[in-house]
Amino acid sequence: TMAHSKAFLVLENFIGGKFVPCPSYIDSYNPSTGDIYCRVPDSGKEEVETAVKAAKDAFPIWSSKTPLERSQILNKLADLIEDDLEAFAQAESKDQGKTITFARTIDIPRAVYNFRFFASSILHHMTECTEMATMGCMHYTSRTPVGVAGLISPWNLPLYLLTWKIAPAIACGNTVVAKPSEMTSVTAWMMCKLLERAGVPHGVVNVVFGTGAKAGEALVCHPDVPVISFTGSTLTGQRIMEKSAPHCKRLSLELGGKNPAIIFDDADLTQCIPTTLRSSFANQICLCTSRIFVQRGIYSEFLKRFVAESKKWKVGNPADPTVDMGALISKEHLEKVRSYVKKAQAEGAKVLCGEGVDSLALPTGNQKGYFMLPTVIAEVNDESCCMQEEIFGPVTCVVPFDTEEEVIKRANSVKYGLSATVWSSNVGRVHRVAQRLQSGLVWTNCWLIRDLNLPFGGMKASGMGREGGKDSYEFFTEVKTITIKH
Ligand code: NAD
Repeated sequence: TMAHSKAFLVLENFIGGKFVPCPSYIDSYNPSTGDIYCRVPDSGKEEVETAVKAAKDAFPIWSSKTPLERSQILNKLADLIEDDLEAFAQAESKDQGKTITFARTIDIPRAVYNFRFFASSILHHMTECTEMATMGCMHYTSRTPVGVAGLISPWNLPLYLLTWKIAPAIACGNTVVAKPSEMTSVTAWMMCKLLERAGVPHGVVNVVFGTGAKAGEALVCHPDVPVISFTGSTLTGQRIMEKSAPHCKRLSLELGGKNPAIIFDDADLTQCIPTTLRSSFANQICLCTSRIFVQRGIYSEFLKRFVAESKKWKVGNPADPTVDMGALISKEHLEKVRSYVKKAQAEGAKVLCGEGVDSLALPTGNQKGYFMLPTVIAEVNDESCCMQEEIFGPVTCVVPFDTEEEVIKRANSVKYGLSATVWSSNVGRVHRVAQRLQSGLVWTNCWLIRDLNLPFGGMKASGMGREGGKDSYEFFTEVKTITIKH
């Protein structure tokens, strides 16, 4: 009813440059209070159909603009988001549960940078040319945009990951239909309000809100969407592969992880401990550490210091700037993460701090929020589900190891291969280990430092394809080899 819907923010789909209402809506919660925050369109086939049509109609004009023209529009959009940075950060924090500090310093600045980065990088790509003098031939490649791109993103870094796809897709001259996570749709909707002012022509960026099962799947199955870029869980990635197989779609899949940190006895613990704390408990990033292998000589010291620091990590109201960690995304997800800790205990592992061990005092306004303390588990087998499956919450396992050879084998003994960190002051060792880890990204003596020029993505069940300056350009364009004979 009107009275009901008026109480909340109500989002609308953005199709062909206009906001359009949807016949039905889903409630989206503020994870730090448990209250309804907004209502999100529950789009399905029909809405996706209209959006794909709008994107198709916009393609001829957009794809024929010069890279420089598109670049200027992307830069303008970056400026407009940046002008509203605080409002975007507040909305992201409220919608997702992450701390305002994190949204302000990481999420929104990175969304701005995604547009600036691709606005710049699109101007610098070169195609190839070879000569075959004896045949009187030269060959060259030409790259053209693919068409309508379907972009599907998860809840953990909402605007950050969505713009990581939108920016390269439109910079290359494609038009897009994007579907953010139904749990974190607000900042994508806010961005839509800026598109016209930035000069993005109608229909170039369409956003359809709704669930994966309805809106997401309709997009994946649409015959006029030849390219899908997806970030989310491995299970959904597998389903997307199946559903797009009949159409032979081009896919980029950024999926789950079970990322190891390998800490050798010559590591600089004064740097390693605070960074590993962040890499373990920073707001549910797919690159988070969830298996910490510590060389036996420093195992007990590391564990003592790491647990002491974990206990100091402040969990609570994400709007409070002194808080280190906000809420988990949903009640269901909180239950799922908790169930892993219980399973570990049932298997005989030791929970050293956090869930079930320490008590969590929350401010009055946050009593119904989905909070959990950073949890450290020890004495756990490599075969345990806590060491094999992606938990995607503030839970990390710490185990000892003896040799380099052994730890490489154990680190590689999961189905995932997204990222890893290695800590040692021995350059040769760091280099050797990094080379042998089955992982799309390896950080040594640091974590989460990214150069967007370089490939991002996972091995094994962590994904397919890579994204990044050159990689995204290649993914979002078709290449053709042309031969000219005199
Ligand atoms: P999810 O797979 O449940 O959902 C991701 C997106 O896919 C959402 O927009 C969802 O609505 C949509 N979706 C769900 N089912 C679909 C279907 N059948 N067809 C089309 N779309 C569908 O993932 P999530 O819970 O939102 O996000 C957490 C997961 O994302 C974790 O596994 C995490 O590791 C992964 N992740 C990976 C990266 C990376 O870069 N590799 C980055 C962030 C998150």
